[in-house]
Amino acid sequence: MRITVLTGGIGGARFLRGLRQTVGPAADITVIGNTGDDIDLFGLRVCPDLDTVMYTLGGGIDETQGWGRATETWSAKAELAAYGAEPDWFGLGDKDLATHLVRTRMLAAGRPLSSVTAALCARWQPGVRLLPMTDDRVETRIEVERDGRRRTVHLQEYWVKLRAALPARSVVLVGADKAVPAPGVLDALGSADVILLAPSNPVVSIGTILAVPGIRAALATAAAPVVGLSPIIGTGPVRGMANQVLQAVGVAATASAVAGFYGSRRDTGVLDGWLVDSSDAGQVGQVAASGIVCRAVPLWMTDVATTTSMAQEALLLAKEVRGA
Ligand code: GDP
Ligand code: CA
Repeated sequence: MRITVLTGGIGGARFLRGLRQTVGPAADITVIGNTGDDIDLFGLRVCPDLDTVMYTLGGGIDETQGWGRATETWSAKAELAAYGAEPDWFGLGDKDLATHLVRTRMLAAGRPLSSVTAALCARWQPGVRLLPMTDDRVETRIEVERDGRRRTVHLQEYWVKLRAALPARSVVLVGADKAVPAPGVLDALGSADVILLAPSNPVVSIGTILAVPGIRAALATAAAPVVGLSPIIGTGPVRGMANQVLQAVGVAATASAVAGFYGSRRDTGVLDGWLVDSSDAGQVGQVAASGIVCRAVPLWMTDVATTTSMAQEALLLAKEVRGA
């Protein structure tokens, strides 16, 4: 079975671990990762979402934080701080730095990010094929307002430095309109048996991937069923900044509103099926009325076992909508 998954960082990576467990080693999983969060720091290319997926599936993630390396040390960061070197708000651990050094050197030698990502994954063996959404630069910026004045900041600055404390007025995807899907991306969507949207941020993770010209159309026309899992449980995200960025695009932070934001493939949207958490079972009817087959199942990724059942439910729903 060929499964293609669109994902961001932490939420998506945790889900992928359950999915891999559900389908076993024989399944062929391709992951299309968001690169709108990528940032250059001290001359190094950092790809937070790709690395979170790679470390999580490769067994190197800091489980408590959900990002960065396990048993990390921070000597380089302390040394940079001693020089007063900016930016000082981004957590660059010593082990993590090696990834960025290797990546940057390969990019500087002219290799595209997709090829570099494959090279890094040769070490981590994530058990999936990890593709960046594009080899081109796309930068997600958040328009913020302070004292009546608006400016845009890099998504990482919004999240890590400003801790998403200022209201987000809009989301700007610099370079997205000219980006081209990375090699293998459109093929992975076109040849998939199942396409899944991980429980990732709908605006700045999945939304960014869908903004790369050709990807949304590939989902709309794919032969495979497309099923998504809600990153919103109750009235907010489980973790992350979904509330702030959903508000910026005028979408309520509820599972049904996010389904509406993605839309049904029967209209101009991308979803055939949508999973909401059991506690949101009251929203199933509303989602179904918009032409999306909807089920309520437990969606808290508290451990690998529950995440594995979640993935199983997503595959079951995919089978059901295909028959519909
Ligand atoms: P990021 O790039 O690191 O922000 O990660 P993602 O975009 O992949 O995922 C962030 C989203 O994951 C947030 O909006 C959370 O609501 C969602 N998320 C995190 N943990 C869980 C969980 O246990 N269950 C569900 N359904 N969503 C989760
Ligand atoms: Ca991210």
